[in-house]
Amino acid sequence: MRRVKVLYIGGCGRSGSTLLDRMLGQVPGVCSLGEFTHLWSGLLHNAECGCGAAIRDCPFWRAVGERAFGGWETVDVAEMLHLQRAVQRQRYVPFMMVPALWPTYREKLERYARVLSELYRGVQEASGAALIVDSTKHYSGAFLLGRVAGLDLQVVHLVRDSRGVAFSWSKTVARPEAAHRGAPMNRYSPGRSSCRWLGYNAGFEVLDRLGVPSTFVRYEDLVRSPRIELERILERAGVQPDGEACSFIEGPEMSLRANHTVAGNPMRFRVGNIRLRVDDEWKSKFPPRHRRLVSVLTQPLLVRYGYAGEGPRDDGHRASFGVRRYA
Ligand SMILES: [Zn+2]
Repeated sequence: MRRVKVLYIGGCGRSGSTLLDRMLGQVPGVCSLGEFTHLWSGLLHNAECGCGAAIRDCPFWRAVGERAFGGWETVDVAEMLHLQRAVQRQRYVPFMMVPALWPTYREKLERYARVLSELYRGVQEASGAALIVDSTKHYSGAFLLGRVAGLDLQVVHLVRDSRGVAFSWSKTVARPEAAHRGAPMNRYSPGRSSCRWLGYNAGFEVLDRLGVPSTFVRYEDLVRSPRIELERILERAGVQPDGEACSFIEGPEMSLRANHTVAGNPMRFRVGNIRLRVDDEWKSKFPPRHRRLVSVLTQPLLVRYGYAGEGPRDDGHRASFGVRRYA
């Protein structure tokens, strides 16, 4: 049976993962699912698909349910959500790496991995895509997919300047889904954002060290040179983009058609032409004391990822951390 190629977008939230997910999803032969980890809760609450239909009414997701399980009505979605929560958490990653040490956990992990294997195969069959994109972001999701039979997993490690990420998490953003319309998304303090940024990026550094094929991408480069970066990602993922594959991008503009993403930031609902622009509002609006705090806390990885220019003085950390190379 043909193996399912999955490209997992990983990194800290507010780093442009939905943007990259949307870009990849426009390429012929590529199917983007958005933050696929939220499928079960989406089915439970019949949330909005990226196409605007309720997930259970969306023809694409109905086809996936049919192919994977013979229809969603055969699946106890609440039980799946419960099983997912028992298996897929960032703090369970050590268990995923050596499940033999925890027999009770291993039994749940193996059971959930079998479900995911069927689910991704269902997506492949329903979409006919050569590459499936999952922009879940959490490193636990990538470690988990590494345990799923029949998948060829690759990762895009997407990084954005920690000050931009922390500023974004400090702002109030309304949730776009009908069920939560007007309710604010989570907010984090600069200190907490810094810890999350370090933790998420460190998780993907570990995956890279473990040999999971990984492509490093900076949000700022993606926005400034979208076509070059997208073609680089596709080539690394084994998709040879022909001249037309990325023709929806012209200079700083790109044209988006509707998709079937199950979750993500409000941008997943955008269709039509959009103009890409680096969001660096933090440089003028993030209070200096917050900016300094984030710079100091995230300094080692900021330097490694090439963001030292806007940061505090070099205090010697560079000696022990190499600058991340493009691969
Ligand atoms: Zn849909």
